[in-house]
Amino acid sequence: MSEVKLHPSLDNGIKPPESGFAGGTLECLCSTDKVEITIGAQTLHNHACGCSRCWKPKGAKFAVIAVVPREKLTVTANASKLAIVDENAPIQRHACKECHAHLFGRIENRDHAFFGLDFVHTELSPQSGWAAPGFAAFVSSIIETGTAPELMTEIRGRLRTIGLEPYDCLSPDLMDALATQVAKLNGVHPN
Ligand SMILES: [Zn+2]
Ligand SMILES: [Zn+2]
Repeated sequence: MSEVKLHPSLDNGIKPPESGFAGGTLECLCSTDKVEITIGAQTLHNHACGCSRCWKPKGAKFAVIAVVPREKLTVTANASKLAIVDENAPIQRHACKECHAHLFGRIENRDHAFFGLDFVHTELSPQSGWAAPGFAAFVSSIIETGTAPELMTEIRGRLRTIGLEPYDCLSPDLMDALATQVAKLNGVHPN
């Protein structure tokens, strides 16, 4: 049995989504005056992410992150505690200034393939029923933040065991979406 901790919502058994689930709230980790986000939709493309930018709970090698249409997301409490982690990153991550949890990531570049989608971590939700993670992205990137390269075979094996195909970039569907947008911007998209 592996000792490597991937992420609490992966290590403790992936919770199945609830049919008809239509959204809920996310809360930061502060004990009082929590930042609260309200999402009026089920999430899409939920996945584990090994990149160095996504917010991970303490000790976790991966983030678990999904998207929702930006018009379905509203900050409903303590908005003044939010700050953008890096204004220059393609995804502007809005984090709580006190507990540092990332409440949502937003793309402001209208030419980006994922413009219109906000990135969220549904582990911050008191509700259950959210979409389950379906794949693992940027797996090799966990080496950049200190994981021993020798552990990668074991980690990829564990991801497959829990049903998450490991990719070293995004999944083929999402890589195709990014490339399609480049083709459109270059005026060479066939449709
Ligand atoms: Zn907080
Ligand atoms: Zn990431």
